[in-house]
Amino acid sequence: MRKVFVIGLDCLDYYIVENLNCKEFLQKVHKKLETIINPEVGEPSTEEIWISIITGVPPEVHKVRAGQAKRWKSKTLQKFREVLIKIEKKNRSVERLISKLRPGKFFEKLGFEKTGIVDNLPVKTIFDIVKPSIAYSIPVYNEDLNKYWELIGWRSRDYALKHREIIAKRAREYFLKEVEETLKLIKNDWILFFVHYQYIDDISHMYYDEPEIIEQTYYEVEEIIKNIKNNLPKDTVVLIVSDHGINDIGLHAPYSFFSINVKIDEKYLPKSVLDLKDFIINLIYEKIPIED
Ligand SMILES: [Zn+2]
Repeated sequence: MRKVFVIGLDCLDYYIVENLNCKEFLQKVHKKLETIINPEVGEPSTEEIWISIITGVPPEVHKVRAGQAKRWKSKTLQKFREVLIKIEKKNRSVERLISKLRPGKFFEKLGFEKTGIVDNLPVKTIFDIVKPSIAYSIPVYNEDLNKYWELIGWRSRDYALKHREIIAKRAREYFLKEVEETLKLIKNDWILFFVHYQYIDDISHMYYDEPEIIEQTYYEVEEIIKNIKNNLPKDTVVLIVSDHGINDIGLHAPYSFFSINVKIDEKYLPKSVLDLKDFIINLIYEKIPIED
């Protein structure tokens, strides 16, 4: 068996990586993968795609949908929320009022909970198949994005753009803490280690119009990834994957990034995010040859 370490970098953009020539991200082989677009929002959704990556099935099958982290467990409350969103979308002053009053906070104080983590997925994940495995901070699977957004102060896109300096600072601190935790977890026993970091997504949404900050962020994350790689056991196969890219107005772009630190024949490489689960399993069980 081969040890495989998967680094999920949310929103790592194929074209930005190529343009900046980030060697630590490009690795030996890199390619653009097809990703999943949510037909209602017209964009790829982080919550849907990471679950598709670890299960190998589309959202129609695993049932996690865009906005999952903010859904209420209570069906009545969720219905109420959907009605409010519809009104909000048509009326900006209602939107402003709701973002000030934050009625959700009130219901949370009463003990109502959101579905940031789904613990009863209807399909098996790669972690049910490969053992021992470590899954760290994977959205909806074991990372509650709603709680994360609360922590860094991300209320909405408009709000985040207005307060981007402080939100970016908090997101970076959170990312560095997660990296520290990753370095500790690496020392445990595993054949598959899968980690997800949200940081690049936050920065991309807030600074899509400031290429210098994007560049700085990519180079900094690259150094951190290099350090993680240096701490891995010898001969670990390292994959870097993203769920989607970013476009020039700060929205999710419909392609994802993939790279691997060993040479593999093109015919074995994944074409879509949905192929990653089987690709990783086949790598671990040595069903895919590695070229010298
Ligand atoms: Zn995003």
